[in-house]
Amino acid sequence: MKNAKKISVVVPFLNEKESLPELVSRVSAVFAARAEDWELLLVDDGSTDGSAEWAVAKTREEPHLRVVRLSRNFGHQFAITAGLDRAVGDAVVVMDADLQDPPEVIPELIAAWEGGADVVYAVRRSREGETWMKKFLAASFYRVFHKMAQVDVPMDAGDFRLVSRRVVDALKEMRELHRFMRGLTCWVGYKQAAVQYDRAARFAGETKYPVWKSAKLAFDAIASFSAMPLRWITHFGMAVCLVAVWLAVYVFWQVFFHPESLEKGWASTVTAMVFLGGAQLVCIGVLGQYVSRIYEEGKGRPLYLVSEDTAEEKNG
Ligand code: UDP
Ligand code: MG
Repeated sequence: MKNAKKISVVVPFLNEKESLPELVSRVSAVFAARAEDWELLLVDDGSTDGSAEWAVAKTREEPHLRVVRLSRNFGHQFAITAGLDRAVGDAVVVMDADLQDPPEVIPELIAAWEGGADVVYAVRRSREGETWMKKFLAASFYRVFHKMAQVDVPMDAGDFRLVSRRVVDALKEMRELHRFMRGLTCWVGYKQAAVQYDRAARFAGETKYPVWKSAKLAFDAIASFSAMPLRWITHFGMAVCLVAVWLAVYVFWQVFFHPESLEKGWASTVTAMVFLGGAQLVCIGVLGQYVSRIYEEGKGRPLYLVSEDTAEEKNG
């Protein structure tokens, strides 16, 4: 099939020296067999292991390769944002650099896009080489998020996906600071489709997502898509008030009918105080999380800064 369409493959990376050469050759091999024009847009998220220098040098032999370097490590979601902002394709595929997302699945994503879908998720049929803890936490997160958020993020879909040009343009309008890209691509709507694949183990190196970073992403995801925690603490506060009213009645009863038992009441008083104090701190903390979001958004800073773009050098 002859067409003038262009596909961009956006790959954020942080210290992936061992994986990048393999990634570039496997993506090139996939497109060598296809009619579309393509670009592989590598976004360097502040690597320090020489992988960015390798990639920039590689652009001289591989004309489809383009490297955008961020001025420091901004984080995976921002690196994806930078890639989407600068990609020029009619459709953009986002995938990880460590080859856990096999480039060989790209043709299936393109086929679904040509079939009319605007967002094509690659859904993990299986996950290799990940600890049971990570798998368990990931599975729990998708289920909780599914219940809490108003958007219907498909379970077990990572950031590996294809988005059409109009979705990319919509994402460019969303400049919120706490970015959960999987939620945002869902929020835009349009026709969404899924393709199944087996998630491979990391090609080389260590994961850059330890459990605490994943937990932070999970809270970001929930807080940016749902005000439910605020409603929960309100309900929780009301429940505690009801208990307090019941306790007051009980205490009055004791004062009038069993005054001799009152000295023994210290333990229960202190327990109730500590419990209430703790509960209030938790609630204030949750409120604070939302307030800090307003504060951070209010600063209106750019989401990331670019220090180098190999495409711009070629042109000027
Ligand atoms: N990554 C990034 N910036 C970061 C952390 C990770 O660009 O601050 C990249 C990383 O190089 C990889 C992708 O994001 O291409 C996914 O990270 P990783 O494979 O470490 O996460 P996991 O697959 O273990 O969840
Ligand atoms: Mg990985």
